[in-house]
Amino acid sequence: MSRGMSVAVIGGGLAGLAAARLLCVRGMAVQLYEANGKPGGCCATTRVGGYTFNDGALFLALPAMLEHLFRRLELDRGALLPWRRISALQRTVLPEGTVVDLDAGRMTYARAGHTPMMYLPGPGCDALREVHVLAPEGLVLGLKIDGGEMFERLLAEESMKMHPGDLYVLFTDGITEAMNAGDDCFGETRLARLVEQHADLPSDQLRERVLREIDAFVGGAPQHDDMTMILLKVDAAWAGAPARAIDAEIVQVAER
Ligand SMILES: Cc1cc2nc3c(=O)[nH]c(=O)nc-3n(C[C@H](O)[C@H](O)[C@H](O)COP(=O)(O)OP(=O)(O)OC[C@H]3O[C@@H](n4cnc5c(N)ncnc54)[C@H](O)[C@@H]3O)c2cc1C
Repeated sequence: MSRGMSVAVIGGGLAGLAAARLLCVRGMAVQLYEANGKPGGCCATTRVGGYTFNDGALFLALPAMLEHLFRRLELDRGALLPWRRISALQRTVLPEGTVVDLDAGRMTYARAGHTPMMYLPGPGCDALREVHVLAPEGLVLGLKIDGGEMFERLLAEESMKMHPGDLYVLFTDGITEAMNAGDDCFGETRLARLVEQHADLPSDQLRERVLREIDAFVGGAPQHDDMTMILLKVDAAWAGAPARAIDAEIVQVAER
């Protein structure tokens, strides 16, 4: 779209507001239409009987995404939206169903055909500080062979206590099956050794380290699958209290 054009944006939620602001920054005349009497959509609040309720978003799950959004909009995120520590974070459900419950200090997970999760116990845990592969029983999601009966029967949910410094690595097979020109796969063993060697890095640096190693391994070979990875690291100073205790990095490298 070119400068000076008139644009109508329907909906003043996070997406509509961001789009409208971006188009304004690019010199377009923007009109924003919002069906509610106020902007904000799911991120707005409603006051009832003296109490304020969130209309949707309860806490910020993806701060890195908002940082990126504010940068693109040429806005000062720190000044407009300072981060606040949340004292009662309860449960986070990851896209593939893993539940991180900081109140109970437990991680509950299941597996429906995706690559098993890697777990490296924190320094304070009794278990050996090496990568453990967590692969509960389960059937591939979406196989409609018997109305879902077999899926329900085979799916095993497991749960484990979390410890300070614990690290969880969830990834798609595009990470471990990244291939070099000789058709060798990067593999689980390489990924596990990398995680063990660099587990003490902050999760964003660990993510960079893993991606760099994969790039170096693959060389010029074309990417054949998507690469998605979630790193969850329990704060080393966490003492079981339900404060912000997880440092999470999510990376998605789309298929080239
Ligand atoms: C209960 C709940 C909890 C959530 N918790 C979290 C969380 O903890 N962390 C997190 O990151 N995300 C959370 N989310 C998600 C997050 O709130 C949404 O992803 C995000 O706010 C969506 O923004 P949006 O602009 O796409 O849509 P919305 O916020 O839904 O905005 C759409 C806007 O468009 C308006 N509209 C619709 N149709 C029309 C029309 N025809 N004409 C004019 N206006 C129209 C609506 O009134 C609304 O204001 C939560 C969502 C819900 C519902």
